[in-house]
Order: sequence, then C-alpha cells, then structure tokens
Amino acid sequence: MGEELKVPANLTRRTFVTGMGAITVMGGLSLAGCSPSGKKASDKADEYDIVIIGSGGAGMSAAIAAFDKGVSKIVVLEKMPSTGGNTNFSSSGMNASETKFQKEQGIDDSNALFAEETLTGGHDTGDVELVTFMCDNSAGAIDWLDGLGITLNNITMTGGMSVKRCHRPTDGSAVGKTLVAGLVEAVKDRKIEVRTNCDAKELVVEGSTVTGVKVEEKSKQSTLSAKAVIMATGGLGANQDMVTKYRPDLKGYVTTNQSGATGDGYTMAEAAGAELVQMDQIQIHPTVEQESSQLIAEGIRGGGAILVNKEGKRFIDEMKTRDKVSAAELEQPGGFAWEVFDQTVYDSNKAVAGYDKAGLVKKGDDLASLANTIEVDPAALKATVEAYNAVTTSGAADEMGRTQGCIAFADGAMYAIKVAPGIHHEMGGIKINTKNEALSADDKPIAGLYAAGEVTGGIHGNNRIGGNAVCDIIVFGKNVGEVVAATLSK
Ligand code: ADP
Repeated sequence: MGEELKVPANLTRRTFVTGMGAITVMGGLSLAGCSPSGKKASDKADEYDIVIIGSGGAGMSAAIAAFDKGVSKIVVLEKMPSTGGNTNFSSSGMNASETKFQKEQGIDDSNALFAEETLTGGHDTGDVELVTFMCDNSAGAIDWLDGLGITLNNITMTGGMSVKRCHRPTDGSAVGKTLVAGLVEAVKDRKIEVRTNCDAKELVVEGSTVTGVKVEEKSKQSTLSAKAVIMATGGLGANQDMVTKYRPDLKGYVTTNQSGATGDGYTMAEAAGAELVQMDQIQIHPTVEQESSQLIAEGIRGGGAILVNKEGKRFIDEMKTRDKVSAAELEQPGGFAWEVFDQTVYDSNKAVAGYDKAGLVKKGDDLASLANTIEVDPAALKATVEAYNAVTTSGAADEMGRTQGCIAFADGAMYAIKVAPGIHHEMGGIKINTKNEALSADDKPIAGLYAAGEVTGGIHGNNRIGGNAVCDIIVFGKNVGEVVAATLSK
C-alpha cells in the first residue's frame, strides 16, 4: 500500500468495485486475459512457473520478489476488476523495528522488543517462530519498499506498542493507497502479467502435488498450470456465511473489508490438504464508522484523540489493544463511542480530510459547540477534556491509565467521528512455516502450494496489533517470492 492516487475522497469499501476502476486505469496494469505482449491466451500461454492468486500487498510483493530473483513466467490473478484488495484500505502504516528511518529520527528500538510486544498483544497465542521471523525481517522489508520508491519514513505509534514503529508515507497519509500504487508501478515496470476479473475456483492436485489452478474469466473456465501456486487471497470479512460459520456471534456486524474478501483461499487450500488454524480468531476493529463501514485510522488515537460515550465520558485507555477497546465500546450505552480530537490531530492525519469530505466528521468551533452538535452534555465533555489535558499540562496520572499518545487538546475547532466495532481481519488461516509453505495437519509441506498475507494463520494469535498486517504481508510476500524462486532454480 508512489504518491497518492486520485481516488475520490468518499471512496469506501462499498463503492470499491466501481470506484477502483479508476485505480486500475491509472495504475496501468495489463487487463484481463492478455499477456504483457498482448498475445491471445493459448494453452502454452497458460503454463506458468508461478501462479499467484490475489493482487493485494502480499500477492504483488511475491510477484516482484520472484521476478527480481529471475522467474519470468509469473501471473497474478485477481477476481475483482481492480488490484490491491484490502491493502488499498490499510489505514495505519507498517510496523518495523531497527529501521534506518527510526535510527535517523533517534528512535531506539529492537527486533526482540517488537516481537515481544507482538506476542504479548496477541496474548501469547501467536506463533513465536513466525513472529520472530516477521520482526527480524521488518527493517529489510522497509528498505526493499524504499528501493521500489515506496518511502515510509513518517513514524507513529499504534495500540499495544511502546515505541514509535508504525511507518507511514512521508506526508502522514494512510499507507494503503501509497503502497498499492507503488507495488502496481513495480509490477508494471517488470511487465508481470496480471489478470483482473479472473476468479480462481479450485487448485489442481496431482497425487499430492498442487500443479495448477482452475479459473473462471468472463464465464469461461480454463486451467492454468504452475510449478508453484502462491495463495494470497486475503481474508473473509465480506463473506457473512463464512464469518458466522467460524464466529456465530459476529452475525450482522459491518465489515471494513472490500467485496472480494470472500475467504476463497481457505476453501481451496483446505481441499488440497492444507490445515487451517485459529479460524475463529476474527478481529473486530473498534473504530469503524457504521454507515460507510469506513475504518477510522488508529494513528488518530495514537496522535491524541480520545473516545467518549454518549454521556461525554471516557471509558478506556484508548491505546489498549483492539480487542479490549472494542469490548469496552460495546459495554457503553448504545454500543458506540465518539472519537474526539482537535485541529492538530485533524491536520497531522491526512486521512481525516477524506473522512470529512465523505461527511463522517462532526465539527464545532469549540468544545461546547461540538458537544451540542453530537448531543453530548457540554459540561461533561468539558470536564473529560480538562482531566485528559491535565496529564500533559500538570503531569497528572491519566484517569484511564493511558500513558501513550496523551497529548493535550489545543483550544479552537474540535471534531468527532461516531464509531463502533466492525469485522476487520481474519487472524486465522492456512498454516505455514517460515518458508511460506502451506502445511498439512501433521506439519508436512503440501508440494507446490505456498501462502502469504492475511490468508495465512497463527502469526498474530488472538489479537493483531495495528500496523502488523502490513508488516506481515510485505515481509512474507517478499519472502515467498524469493523462496519459490530459489526452489525453482534448483
Ligand atoms: P493481503 O493483505 O493478504 O495481500 P488483500 O485483501 O489485500 O490481502 O488482497 C487479496 C486479494 O485477493 C483481493 O484483491 C481479493 O479480491 C483477491 N482474491 C480473493 N479471492 C480470489 C480468488 N478466488 N481469485 C482471484 N483473486 C482473489
């Protein structure tokens, strides 16, 4: 998730299918069914070294990394009309430790601390080996992106992290659009084939080896053969039936996911013998605007915003992990919160202007007028903000125990967005090892099948830290491309 694409400011996941057409055209990727040379697909043209299913951050990183290690017959399949998947909507940044940008900015960090806080954030249910691999390779992934022209040097904090390690584009915008635009550009520069509107339906398994993929394009079925298939299909948030199969309690929740997040990768991989782990670990995100399903970036809380209930009172340390903040919100009257912030927070998070244009932000010239607009008792809201400000102004302990990102509100214009939890991320998925091989129940690699990104499971355990999904998809996306290239060259 180059510079910002001209995406309509009010683009939401619900307008994604039509809205993202603009991105594909601007991204300039080859269109459905055509090879880069424009040749018509023939049987021979459908023989590949690597077929990658899914064009999100993980799939595109895999394609670029494999190409750069010498593999040329690569195709990326995308069932939607446009590339980028949910990665387009990544709202925070990419967590990484010991990076050159942290060092330049005097931020002291270590891979061990990053791993420890990731595991603690997931209540020690994450996979230690995968987490350690992710953290140890995070700085290298930041450098790799920088080499592709995707510079993430504006660093902030997300809930559950004690150090500034969430890397964002220079202008402080949400990472998703910049990342996708940069990866699309890199894919295009390498003339890697991308087939949009190409729906992968089933893996071809011969003996116990995955040898291809059955696809449907424009209602026509065909089979692509592959020496290796990389599953990078993302999550399942847009598939209510699958969500409720694993988590009946999440029936009716809105989702932040784009409509291609239908969980196909889990079904296809399982049918080929892969083990799915922790599938009930579906993360709900605490700050989702419910009418638009727009996720409100976590950097806004990290920059100083607070959450208040309809009585104008705070109810939690806003920097706690997503599971805890979501649970606390649901206990409030009406099961929602107002995310309240000042002009400084508005100006330092580029995403806010987009939310504002989309009509999601309530405003007041001062705190009292904001309180009236959102129908919260002005005296209660004033008392709440004064108590919060005292942490900065007089060094008082925060009443909610917040120690991170406690920044006093400046007088002047005030803003609020109404938020509640929404389905956000499937933390379970295909079991993998650090070579991104898809594993069976007895930990045996399924020959020919690899997986990367949200479709994989067990890395984050039962709570994923904000900023860690992008780290996961880039580190493991790059890794799987390099691993497969090395395997094919033997
Ligand atoms: P990640 O963050 O893991 O890269 P994303 O959600 O960003 O995941 O991207 C996954 C992509 O895979 C999405 O663009 C989605 O539309 C695509 N996808 C999902 N299922 C299929 C399928 N059956 N065939 C082709 N593409 C698929």
